[in-house]
Amino acid sequence: MKIAIIGFGAAAIGFIERIKDTDVEIHVFEKSKDIYSSSISGIRADGKLFVSKEMGGDLEIDIELQKKLVDFWINKTRNKSVETGQSFSNIEYYKKFYAKGFQPVASDFYHLGTEQLKEILYNIFHEYESNKNIHFHFEKQINKIDFLNGMFRLDNKKTFDNVIVAVGRSGHKLIKTIVKDFPEIVLDSTKVDLGIRFELPDHIVEELNKEMYEFKVKYKSKTGYMVRTFCNNPSGYVVTENYGDFTTVNGHSKIKDKSKNTNFAVLTTVQLTEPFNDPIGYGSNIAKLTNLLGGDKVILQTYSHFKDSKRTKNLYRVQPTLDESNFILGDINLAYPRRIIESVIDFIENLNEVIPGISNTDNLVYAPEIKFYSYTLNNNKFKNLKFIGDCSGYTRSIIYATAHGYLMAEELL
Ligand SMILES: Cc1cc2nc3c(=O)[nH]c(=O)nc-3n(C[C@H](O)[C@H](O)[C@H](O)COP(=O)(O)OP(=O)(O)OC[C@H]3O[C@@H](n4cnc5c(N)ncnc54)[C@H](O)[C@@H]3O)c2cc1C
Repeated sequence: MKIAIIGFGAAAIGFIERIKDTDVEIHVFEKSKDIYSSSISGIRADGKLFVSKEMGGDLEIDIELQKKLVDFWINKTRNKSVETGQSFSNIEYYKKFYAKGFQPVASDFYHLGTEQLKEILYNIFHEYESNKNIHFHFEKQINKIDFLNGMFRLDNKKTFDNVIVAVGRSGHKLIKTIVKDFPEIVLDSTKVDLGIRFELPDHIVEELNKEMYEFKVKYKSKTGYMVRTFCNNPSGYVVTENYGDFTTVNGHSKIKDKSKNTNFAVLTTVQLTEPFNDPIGYGSNIAKLTNLLGGDKVILQTYSHFKDSKRTKNLYRVQPTLDESNFILGDINLAYPRRIIESVIDFIENLNEVIPGISNTDNLVYAPEIKFYSYTLNNNKFKNLKFIGDCSGYTRSIIYATAHGYLMAEELL
């Protein structure tokens, strides 16, 4: 059997890990130049591994398998040094958040850190590359898949018995092309997460950072939208993420090089109904409008100005960790829909009831921060064309994507 895997990310790694010791001929097509080249993904920046039934994707993944895959990633580091923690295992914290209307999300996590990820990826790649049946093709962006006599052909060239599409979110162009040819494979495409990245001095959230490192809570705001925290980075850095035609913000933290600020995203889930069917277009256009106002940069604003819809011209006590060449001081209210802004403000004001200091006037707000959901795709439509990981719409985390690949390989075997 000859299998093509498109993309070499978390899901592809899970798939290969399960199938590598068989006689299946595997060809991996990856658009990046080599294993070191960056593409936007958590296996190249930050690398927090979560074990949780409540987050990471819309799949039922056994806790034992999640733990086994966490060990797989950690075992690829040189000296197994990771930061670990548990969110909301302490019932007192759980009760405190719950009392103010938050839904705490329980999870165990393991932080690999940006520096170690390079080494991990290289070790995985090196091991797979030395298998005789695994062939890597870098700088091979696949743009088209055709169905021919029961087999699938890539870019009008080679045909394969099975094609596994594992292109993550950065591969949305290929997914769009496939969906155009086979529109019936789309089960759902209505959601996008829009919000901001919040940055504040470590000492305000010190206790919480120490207790659980990553605090994840959900909250039904007065607008009716669900708002949640995402990707908390104690002593971390805010960074930009370039999507080609727009730039967003994100955050990460390093194992050694620490800042004095904590950052996390506050995201509002927008779910629209028919005739709406383009959440990526909706999110991208809001990001582009924000960049347009910022002269192709992201916008930074103090929290009080964000709340009062005034342009920020000066900062006060909190200094940004994002390099000043990447942002402009401005007013996010000129680019974001009111309902999103109100949801975020309601969330932060309420969070201040649990953590005093969160709503300090000079804390920092960055935009655009957007998390796209892929189309949810029907994996039962074709026997030999499968979608795994984030591009399938079923996963949103490293461990869920790795597990999805692993389970798909098992099914195939
Ligand atoms: C900045 C950032 C930080 C994150 N941090 C975390 C975190 O700390 N913890 C966590 O659990 N999750 C995190 N995530 C989410 C996590 O990265 C993803 O859920 C996970 O990597 C999905 O795995 P995947 O294999 O589906 O996609 P990816 O890991 O993104 O891999 C997809 C691969 O496909 C390649 N590709 C794309 N299109 C093509 C094409 N047409 N042809 C060939 N190759 C192609 C890409 O270059 C990429 O290498 C983060 C995401 C981002 C963007």
